Parts: sequence; structure tokens; C-alpha cells
Amino acid sequence: MIREACVNEGTETSGQEIRNVRVLQRFLADVPVEMHVLEAAPGRASLIARVRGTDPTAPALGLLGHIDVVPVDPDGWTRNPFGGDLIDDEVWGRGAVDMLYLTAAFATVLREVALAPEKPRGDLVLLAVADEEAGGDYGLKWLLQQYPDIVEVSEVLTESGGMRMGSHVAIGVAEKGSAGRLLTVQGKPGHASIPYGARSAVFAVGEILQQLSQAVPAAELGELWDAFVTARIDDADLAERLRDPVRLDTAIAHLGGIAGYAYAVSRVTISPTVLRAGSAHNVIPGSGSVQLDIRTLPGTSDDDVDDLLRAVLGPLADETQITHLRGWDATASSTETPLFAALERAVEAVAGAPVVPIMAAGGSDARFFREIGVPAYGFGLLGPAWSYERYREGVHGHNERIDLTSISLSLAALRRIVAERIGAAA
Ligand SMILES: [Zn+2]
Repeated sequence: MIREACVNEGTETSGQEIRNVRVLQRFLADVPVEMHVLEAAPGRASLIARVRGTDPTAPALGLLGHIDVVPVDPDGWTRNPFGGDLIDDEVWGRGAVDMLYLTAAFATVLREVALAPEKPRGDLVLLAVADEEAGGDYGLKWLLQQYPDIVEVSEVLTESGGMRMGSHVAIGVAEKGSAGRLLTVQGKPGHASIPYGARSAVFAVGEILQQLSQAVPAAELGELWDAFVTARIDDADLAERLRDPVRLDTAIAHLGGIAGYAYAVSRVTISPTVLRAGSAHNVIPGSGSVQLDIRTLPGTSDDDVDDLLRAVLGPLADETQITHLRGWDATASSTETPLFAALERAVEAVAGAPVVPIMAAGGSDARFFREIGVPAYGFGLLGPAWSYERYREGVHGHNERIDLTSISLSLAALRRIVAERIGAAA
């Protein structure tokens, strides 16, 4: 699958995940599974493979793996990013960690279950989907709208888990939401040779950016924050400060490589990304705009975001138009489910480590299932050297690669979970 280079650049014609669908079809050929290949646009294919269980009241466990990858900058790589080479017990290539190793593990366990002499009690469903990296319009989002019966499951394992958080193993149970905003301001245009009396929109945009650069949204600490501090912070004094919303921000500076994550999951964040003003060198622009990438917490509403922006803008708020861009709510799955309990037991049995539930700062396809009430967890079980920071750096970065130990650990935990949830009746 690495060698197929299903690179998703966010355009309709990129990705071409049909190539990885073909890889999986070959892997599952002559295996007794119900297979569907569904194409949202030419080449944007997903594969759904279901092993039917004998008991319709048993859970239907979905193994959700995307088969697209993000682009590479080949100059930053010391090996071919699409070589899929196995060097010193590491598989190299774009997508090795995010998330082809897991998609491959999911397909492997599905194949084993399908070929076992005993039928499982519940359904096991491989959802190998296109377009996760660009939002799922040609992947899971589309599948749930067009083929809800084919992709129907009662619980889901997917990516964003298995990193080490102190002596714990992190399992994703929540993701921040996204609430994009466009801020537009008007100025007074004029000829750039006579600026007197004009009010350039560029200056107005600059004033907005000045306000934004000084804004630190207040921390909102919940149960997942508490679990993060417990798992990751050994220093009792530092842990106490991190649990205090007032002292939190000075304490975060002492967190080293995990500081960025801690900042992101403790509050709503605002990042200006795209500035626009002016089109001609000699014309003072009459309007300007700033796009904001805003990431929300579970419970943050659209109104909350607009209120926060107006507070940050202060006196500038009256002259600033706020337009809503594409977004989605933060999502979370309960840790009080049989699947989460099975995850905890499997990780304990295979790695001898407790699980800590975490919130991801970014988004994944897990949200589409959470939005319809299906619990979805970020799975994986990486080796002891995989800190959260290393995982974050490895995903989407140069020289992406995964070691065989992490693949084996993940497979071992996955086999236990599948056996517990939908395994053959004893
Ligand atoms: Zn991914």
C-alpha cells in the first residue's frame, strides 16, 4: 500500500485509492467475506469487507482504516518515500504510521477471522476508506450518506492511539472540533501615491492580527485533562499547577515536547492562516480579510466561538464582519463501553500498561461514527520508545517509518479485542 502512493492533495482527482483497494482485494481473494468496492468519484474507491456473525444481537465491530496518505517533500527523505523498504526491522514510507500499518493489521485480522473454522458471533467489518486526509467527502462521509447499510457497525476501532504517555498507553476517545471563520474589514480605498485621508484595509487587518497575537483563550479543563496530567506528569508540584486554570499557562512552558499538545487540548485555539487584501501595487485596498483555523472543545458552540472572537477583537469587533467557514463539532466517546473495557484488557495483557484516554487536537474519520452515536476509539499499540511527541513528529513528517515490534504489539492486542467482542462462541 505504501508503494501505491495514494497521495491525497485535497483535490477530487488525487488519492486514486482504487490502487490500494486492489491491493486489499488481492489480499482477501478467495477468503469468504462480503466485499463491496464503492467509488465516490473516479478512482476514489473504498473497500468494505464484512465477515457475518452467527448472532444478530452480538456487536458488529468496525475496523476503520484509511488508505490515502498525505504528500511528501522528497528532499527531506533519506529513502524513497514510496519504497516500502524494510530496513533494520522498520518499514519505511509515507503512510507507514498514518495509518497503513493499522489498515494492514485490520485486514490481516479480518482475513484470519474469515478463514477460521468457527464462525464469529458478531460481524467483523473492514472499512478501508478513501479521503480521510482531506475530510472524507470522497470517503467515509460519503459512504455513511450513500450506503449506510453496507457500512453499518455498532462500534469502531481506528487511528490515533497506542502512543506512550508516561507509563500509560494513550487511546483516542475524543477529537477537537473545527470552526473556521473569515474576518472581513473595510477600509477607504484610494490611489497609493496619495495615502493621506485613505484608510488602508491592510492596516485594519494588521490591527486585528495584533489583537489575535495577544489573545490566550482561557483553559477549560475536563476529565481528559485530568487523566492526561495523571498519566504523563510525575512531578507532583507541576501536576498541581497544571490542574489550576490560573497557573496552567506558566506551567505548560515546563512541559518540553508535549507543551504544544497540552496547550491545544486545554482550550479553544485560534490560528490565523490566510490573509487577503489588495490586488494592484498602486491601489490602497478597500477591504481585507483573515481566515482563522479555530479548534473547539466538546461542548463549544458556534455562538461561543463568535463571542470569543468579539471579546478578542475588542473595539475592532464592531467594524469586523465574521463569516462562518466549514467546520464540525468536537466529538467524544464514553470510556464506559464494553469495547473500551476490552481495549484496556488487551493493552494490559500485551504491554503490561494501563490505558489513558486522550483527546486528539486534530480530526479524523472517527467523528463521523461518533456523530451518529457509534463509539469510536483511536487504536494502536506502539513500542515503548513511541512517546506522543515522537508519534506527532512521525506522522506527516519526513522519513515516516514503523518498527516491526509496534506492528506485532498492535496485532496481538487487536486479536484479543476481536476475540473478546465478536469471537466464536465458547
Ligand atoms: Zn490518519
